[in-house]
Amino acid sequence: MSEVTASTPSPAAPKKMDDIVALCRRRGFIFQSSEIYGGINGFWDYGPLGTSLKRNLKNAWWNDVVERELIGPDGNSVDIVGVDCTIIMNPKTWVASGHVGGFADLMSTCRQCKKLMRWDHVWDMLSESDWWKAIEELYATPSSVTSETLMKWAQGKGRKLAPGLALVRNPQVTLSWLAERLAAQGNHFMDTREFVRHLATEQFARDGLQTPCPHCGGELTEPRQFNLMFETNCGAVKDENSLAYLRPETAQGIFTNFWNVCDSTRVKVPFGIAQIGKAFRNEVTPRNFTFRSREFEQMEIEFFIRPDTANEWYRWWRDWRFSWWQKIGLAGANLILREHDRDELAHYAKEGAGTSDIEYRFPFTAPGFGELEGIAHRADFDLKAHATHCGKGEKMRYFDQEKNDRYFPHVIEPSAGADRGTLALLCEAYTPDPSRASGVYMNFTPRMAPVKAGVFPLVNKDGLPEIAERLYRDLRRKHSIEFDEKQSIGKRYARMDEAGTPYCITIDHDGASSGTATIRHRDTQAQDRVALDQIPAWIDERVG
Ligand code: ATP
Repeated sequence: MSEVTASTPSPAAPKKMDDIVALCRRRGFIFQSSEIYGGINGFWDYGPLGTSLKRNLKNAWWNDVVERELIGPDGNSVDIVGVDCTIIMNPKTWVASGHVGGFADLMSTCRQCKKLMRWDHVWDMLSESDWWKAIEELYATPSSVTSETLMKWAQGKGRKLAPGLALVRNPQVTLSWLAERLAAQGNHFMDTREFVRHLATEQFARDGLQTPCPHCGGELTEPRQFNLMFETNCGAVKDENSLAYLRPETAQGIFTNFWNVCDSTRVKVPFGIAQIGKAFRNEVTPRNFTFRSREFEQMEIEFFIRPDTANEWYRWWRDWRFSWWQKIGLAGANLILREHDRDELAHYAKEGAGTSDIEYRFPFTAPGFGELEGIAHRADFDLKAHATHCGKGEKMRYFDQEKNDRYFPHVIEPSAGADRGTLALLCEAYTPDPSRASGVYMNFTPRMAPVKAGVFPLVNKDGLPEIAERLYRDLRRKHSIEFDEKQSIGKRYARMDEAGTPYCITIDHDGASSGTATIRHRDTQAQDRVALDQIPAWIDERVG
């Protein structure tokens, strides 16, 4: 095996979300759902490469969680079994789980443009909006901002970018409020947020200054509750008796089957039940590509434990899950583990071992982070709630033979999103490199890469295609391999770089006569020459 060529990758350029979305569309990772009809907000389809990537992620999760040997904090093998539950469940499930009563976000509507948005998203959306950026530019030197410059902005740029903003709709009133407030506060310096809130205020709201609409600058209504569950009806008659919901999480299918699994298998606490499946939430402001979708997939584990072991199991799951994401390719500083503050904890977690999020720095959250997976100690909230709501109550307590004791097990729940995970893999892998024909390559780990290797004849004659095709058929028995004989070799490498294929195998004339091929490494572009009969083992060793 000898090294033929190598080049140093050029320094990393910043990743832009628009470029990543464009590559996903162009190369068939992710499309808008029903795109030919203009799409539908909050729904996304995966193309051939995206489907493989997401499947590799889900398979890795399933293999590592359910099928492989895992050693827990007590030194024993961790017992986890799988279930696959329905999307529509008896609606009483969602009463017991608290979703019917409380699965709501606070929402506001803009009185000017009528758009609906999640109250806790407003400031993030504002800082991303064009009109906020224009004000930031204007306010970069606060001392030069006068009533005249603001009036000019209101009548020019402001009219186009933020037609609903109080300053634009009614400049005189807003400017006189602003002057009055400034004078009252001794003309102290305001930060951009406070300044923008002044520009949004014609009339003081109950809490003082207005928070403006991110879309048009208009006035927002008081936030009110909005239930996120999608409703449907089962059967021919549409009435309240036929009302059902699309599950907003996969977890409740696991909880309601807890007793079935105990009765039908040999599991004993501590053990876990895992599920991968679709979940639906009527998100008010689906945004940031697939990050906040209305239909998405979850990978959830409910791990049932004795209540007095909650702390050790919680810490063990938190750390193992974090290292798992690192292992599949999110190894750098973009991945963090964040322990929740007590006031952030969910109702069921207040008294428990804790809650943490594994978060990734997406280009659209940077410099901040967005949640990939939550690890929560849910105590015995869910099992107890279902036992109570189904009417059997204490009789449904678990009998611990070893301890000769009955109790409702506590639960540690690692709950991850397959779509957010796939998106994080895409963002992490996207590596701009102006020195390459493609301008970019995707450096997925071999385990995640949709295509493990490309096989190419250098030219379409002299017997090279036949040798290449034989090798391709051989490798394909085990791995996802692409055969490509079209266009120049440079263009073929470029296509594979964009797909994130770690290895490209080329049959050239030298190789045909000596029984070898070159193997190009995606990240370094270095090439090895390897004997044809050794290539299957060479690939096996690297892509597993
Ligand atoms: P967020 O606060 O971002 O709305 P959440 O805390 O409500 O998320 P969970 O209920 O803990 O999310 O769901 C577990 C996982 O499911 C999340 O970590 C995320 O990966 C995924 N998930 C939740 N909502 C969505 C969504 N709308 N689109 C895509 N993935 C989602």
